[in-house]
Amino acid sequence: MVSETITVQGETATAAPAARPARVEDRIVIARKLVKTYDTGEVEVPALRGLNVDIKKGEMVAIMGPSGCGKTTLLNCLSGIDDFSSGEVWIAGQRLSKLSDNQKTDFRAMKMGFIFQNYNLLPVLRCAENVELPLLVRGVDPKEARRKALAAMTAVGLEKEPMKKPAELSGGQQQRVAIARALVNEPDIVFADEPTGNLDSETSREVVQLMKRLHREKGLTFIIVTHDSAVGNQTQRVIMMRNGVILKSFQPPRT
Ligand code: ADP
Ligand code: MG
Repeated sequence: MVSETITVQGETATAAPAARPARVEDRIVIARKLVKTYDTGEVEVPALRGLNVDIKKGEMVAIMGPSGCGKTTLLNCLSGIDDFSSGEVWIAGQRLSKLSDNQKTDFRAMKMGFIFQNYNLLPVLRCAENVELPLLVRGVDPKEARRKALAAMTAVGLEKEPMKKPAELSGGQQQRVAIARALVNEPDIVFADEPTGNLDSETSREVVQLMKRLHREKGLTFIIVTHDSAVGNQTQRVIMMRNGVILKSFQPPRT
C-alpha cells in the first residue's frame, strides 16, 4: 500500500492510507492547512482555518455550507484568484505559491474555467464574442477562436443564438453562454460559484444536467459551490464546510 507525504512549510503531513494505492497524480486539487484571513484594516476576519481538501481528477463535487462559512474564499484560493495567508495548494500538479501573479493568470487561462452566479457576461458583446474572448486574450487566431466558440455554444444547446446580446436571452440561456465560455479553452477544471443561484428550480435542474453531461463526456473536474441540496445531490461527492473548515464529505443519496 502506498501512502504519500506532502511537506507543508517544513512540516510533514502524511495522508491516511487509502483502500487502494493513492497517487498524487490522481488528484487535481490538494490543499493542506489552508488559512485565509481577510485583513480589513480594523478587524481580521478568519475565513479559512487550516483546511485540507483533496479532489480527484474528473470528479464532480459540490461544496456546501451556510452563508459566510468560506465557500467562495476557498474557490478563490484554490484557483489562485486570491492569495491565501498560509498553507499550500497544488493544482494540476502546480504548487500555487511557486507561481508569480502573471504565471497564475496564464495558468488559469490554460487550465481553468469559471462559472458565476451572475453569469459575468459582457453586455456589449454578442454571445459568441463573450465565449471567444478567453481565446482571443490568449492570442488564438480570431477565425479559430470563433470556430471554437460556435462549437462550445453548440455543446450547450445554443447554436441558434450566437449573435444575440446576453440581455436578449433568459437567465438559464445566459448561464449556458457562461458555461460555453468556461469550456472554450478546454480546461482541466471548472469552478462554479452558486451557478444556479439566480435560476428557478426547473432551469437550475437543466443547468445542472448540462454540467453533468459535460463532466461525463469531457471528463472535466467540476467544483460547484452551492447552497441548494438539489444541486449538491446531483454530484458525486458533497463537501460540507462550517466556519472555515471541512466538516465532512459524503456521497449524496442517488436521486
Ligand atoms: P460563503 O461563500 O460561504 O458565503 P465567503 O467565502 O464569501 O463565504 O466569506 C467567508 C468569510 O469571510 C465571511 O465572514 C465573510 O464576511 C468574510 N469575507 C469574505 N470576503 C471578504 C473580504 N473581501 N473582506 C473581508 N472579509 C471578507
Ligand atoms: Mg459565496
